[in-house]
Amino acid sequence: MRPSLQDLSFEEIAELVKKFEFPTYRTKQLYDMVLRCKEYNEATNLPLPLKQKFENEYDAISVALEQEFCGKSNVKKYLYRLRDGITIEGVYMPHGYGDSLCVSTQAGCRMACSFCASGLNGLERNLETSEIFGQVLLAERLNARSDGKRAITNIVLMGSGEPLDNYTNVIKFISLVNSEASLNISERNISLSTVGLPDKIRELADSGHKVTLAISLHAPTDEKRNKIIPQNRKHCIAEIINAVKYYFEKTGRRIIFEYALAKNENSTLQSANELIILLRGIPCHVNLIPLNFVKEKKIEGADSKTVNDFLNALAKGRISATVRRSMGSDIFGACGQLRLGYLEGSNARS
Ligand code: SAH
Repeated sequence: MRPSLQDLSFEEIAELVKKFEFPTYRTKQLYDMVLRCKEYNEATNLPLPLKQKFENEYDAISVALEQEFCGKSNVKKYLYRLRDGITIEGVYMPHGYGDSLCVSTQAGCRMACSFCASGLNGLERNLETSEIFGQVLLAERLNARSDGKRAITNIVLMGSGEPLDNYTNVIKFISLVNSEASLNISERNISLSTVGLPDKIRELADSGHKVTLAISLHAPTDEKRNKIIPQNRKHCIAEIINAVKYYFEKTGRRIIFEYALAKNENSTLQSANELIILLRGIPCHVNLIPLNFVKEKKIEGADSKTVNDFLNALAKGRISATVRRSMGSDIFGACGQLRLGYLEGSNARS
């Protein structure tokens, strides 16, 4: 694929402007075009020779909108098309105080978790940095505010794919979206959700980036986790816990544990007690998620009483926990579900 301007930082674009012998002040205008997710022909303030020079080597945009679905609470689900025709998805969640965008980091996923739609067909390919950043820039354009403030203030790397399995591109994305010349989104407001790859968690801790780390735990013992997350056979819970403690030491950031409650499987009070013992002493917060039913997977979510009982048990065990609203579940909100429906031609439900 051709390189894309959405892969580049302000400084890298400045170097190119210099190399192509255009005046320095053009950098800001060109970068403005990038941040507004515009095509070359939309940037009327740029001279044609400059646009031609860049267009010969760089695409302006890596991600196009294929379809948009609107759900309850103004949640939007986007199906994006990449330049090679592959589709990926994202969820836009308005909160009033600033909006969140859930982005994908891979097309498909290698992790094959038993309840997740993203891994059903394995990994298609890693997304380039421009394809991760491009999702944010496009969503920002689609939701542009009239007061000129940025619409998106929070980013969650919780779309399809395993972010730490595409480490280099994800790290560059974090740098780009965080940089002052770009969207300036604070690393505190960027959450990276991972199945738990210990070596990569340590590498992230050493990288100097201080994003919020979320671990998809979903079960409190190896015996139970092995059944739903195949990756756990490679890296057991103790290894992950050691790595997150290291992450906390290095970054001072409280760890988030995600725990999707399924019917019977992991939602018993015994599981709650095992979870309390596992997490005791770790600066953390547990996000309980009522599992979204994926028809191919046949695992059902726990009912609301079970969810509440589980939450109360954690509170009694002095583990900080909340139930995450399952935003977008009415529009295939769970990881990978929209794209899967689209690929099957069954997305008419929207
Ligand atoms: N691979 C990463 C990020 C993508 S998944 C990870 O494992 O964290 C984002 C979150 O959605 C994870 O916590 C994942 O376990 C959860 N998830 C996937 N399918 C789900 C479903 N059907 N219901 C509820 N949560 C789901």
